Amino acid sequence: MKSISRRKFVNQSLKATAFTIVGTQLATTETLANNFTPDGLQFSQIALPYSTNALEPNIDALTMEIHYGKHHAAYIKNVNEAIAIEKIPYSNEKDFFSNISKLSSKARNNGGGAWNHNFFWQIMTPESSAPTGKVAEALNGSFGSFQKFKELFAQAAMTRFGSGWAWLVKDGNSLKIGSTPNQDNPMMDISDFKGTPLLALDVWEHAYYLKYQNKRNEYVANWWNVVNWNEVSKRLG
Ligand code: MN
Repeated sequence: MKSISRRKFVNQSLKATAFTIVGTQLATTETLANNFTPDGLQFSQIALPYSTNALEPNIDALTMEIHYGKHHAAYIKNVNEAIAIEKIPYSNEKDFFSNISKLSSKARNNGGGAWNHNFFWQIMTPESSAPTGKVAEALNGSFGSFQKFKELFAQAAMTRFGSGWAWLVKDGNSLKIGSTPNQDNPMMDISDFKGTPLLALDVWEHAYYLKYQNKRNEYVANWWNVVNWNEVSKRLG
């Protein structure tokens, strides 16, 4: 080997290398197809609708990078693993969550983590403005005023002990505010707080600790600056 010049060696190796790479890719695809039921439910991570520094200074870039790139990515990988290994039969998210009490804690925690974060990224924007139209009317109708709604929602976020989420949900014709522990969400049969999610706030320390440390109240207060009320409006229907 050492008697062959580097360039010559590289040239001679090119074809073999190309075949090796293709072979590896095929094997990987086949492995995936075998392990992950192709017609069953699969969670996938949405593309972030803005850059990781777009929500600065309210949410810092490093937090977004780790939160999206590490925490959320891991929930996605792990829930798909649980679906494959446990042969979870549900073909859509609604059935998955409404039967979550029958599934493992791995499926519950990572399934919630996968869905909740996909939702969370979408209901934020660097171009936030106050709610208008039917959302404003619905908030006023259910909570008295936008200000009162914000107070109640912040209270839900602040009183969630440990890790969890604060939610605004639609339940029939009314709106409700509440919270869930860990990665539970209001679509889970196991949850005390139920409804169709309209807005969510991640109050896990990983969502704010790098910038805000123990000051969850400041994180919550600044988060209003990045809420995407257009997305809330779409979900209100
Ligand atoms: Mn999170």
